[in-house]
Amino acid sequence: MAALTLERVTKQYPDGTVAVRDVTLRVEDREFVTLVGPSGCGKSTLLKLVAGLETPTAGTISIGETPVTDLPPRARDVAMVFQSYALYPHLTVYENLAFGLRLRRPRPQEVDTRVREAAAVLGLGDLLDRRPGELSGGQQQRVAMGRAMVRRPRAFLMDEPLSSLDAKLRLHMRAELLRLRTRLGAPILYVTHDQGEALSLGDRVAVMHAGRLHQLDRPLALYERPADLFVAGFIGQPPMNFLEGRLGPFGDGAALIMGEIATPLPAALRPVRPAWLQEPLVVGIRPQDVRLLEGGDAGDMAPCCRITALVEATEPFGNEIYVHLAPEAPLWATEEERPTFRALLRSGQQVQPIERVRLALPLARLYLFSRRTGDHLEA
Ligand code: ADP
Repeated sequence: MAALTLERVTKQYPDGTVAVRDVTLRVEDREFVTLVGPSGCGKSTLLKLVAGLETPTAGTISIGETPVTDLPPRARDVAMVFQSYALYPHLTVYENLAFGLRLRRPRPQEVDTRVREAAAVLGLGDLLDRRPGELSGGQQQRVAMGRAMVRRPRAFLMDEPLSSLDAKLRLHMRAELLRLRTRLGAPILYVTHDQGEALSLGDRVAVMHAGRLHQLDRPLALYERPADLFVAGFIGQPPMNFLEGRLGPFGDGAALIMGEIATPLPAALRPVRPAWLQEPLVVGIRPQDVRLLEGGDAGDMAPCCRITALVEATEPFGNEIYVHLAPEAPLWATEEERPTFRALLRSGQQVQPIERVRLALPLARLYLFSRRTGDHLEA
């Protein structure tokens, strides 16, 4: 078994739409890579390119040492699992599992062994005589997965396979996939628009936007070190807050300037490169990291910058409250660009709508992006 590699792959459809732009991506053998991004970002196209259902305009695709870019789908030996299971309703579970395998004409004994092996792994052993109509959605999903497994393909491609299930079953199948994936024994590329699914299933997660691969990284790294503004805003729930700012010289080091608020940045905590001093910035902070300053500054607090904001609404969330805030001007350039700003606070903290509150943004938790390029300056 071997890795799945895409090298500088571009796909332009005949109508001029560039669905995939210069994507380089490697899924190691037995690695589970999830591909996530908003609708229309090119996820399905990328999967179709690997499956051979579309041909790239540029770039190469290989599985192990074998270039497959010009091979027809059947010759690539990849298995695709879709959201619609497309099981044969008149065939039993056993026959559904065996069907695709028989087309490849192995010895009959081999078919039986593989079907029973997959059924055992998937917990379908007692259901082999049933027809799809007699199965729950989750069981049908497992049959669809089993059908791909029995072929022992060189790569698995999964296109939102859980999206048609209800929320509870989806969580259940997610847990099953986590258990199963180590037994699939090939690279797995899994498309989803659901970041929760992407982060929980993927060994690594590929984040796409407008045809481009923005970052391919471990889930925690995406969260802690997003490569750019898009990834920062896309990964994390609730989403990261953004304010405008810039850096100015201050003593031996630099200060972060947001509106009329200048906060010295201790060099040991946030080293600043001289080039950044000229750069208009977007300053990011996650809602979980915003602190409420109650009754004056807390003395023991880590170095922070302090802003004032108006409470617009509060939403209780179990043991937390989600507070919608309007930071006071001028922390953004124009009224149209006034940012939504949210804080996730512990429930004990009392805030009321239309109250003015002082907030502390811990310097260690800020993200600095170039407003020009969107790049995360410290990534
Ligand atoms: P996703 O799976 O992320 O929702 P797709 O890969 O389906 O995105 O689509 C990416 C872009 O390519 C979209 O702008 C879509 O409208 C366009 N697209 C998809 N298929 C075709 C096609 N056959 N012809 C022209 N444009 C297409």
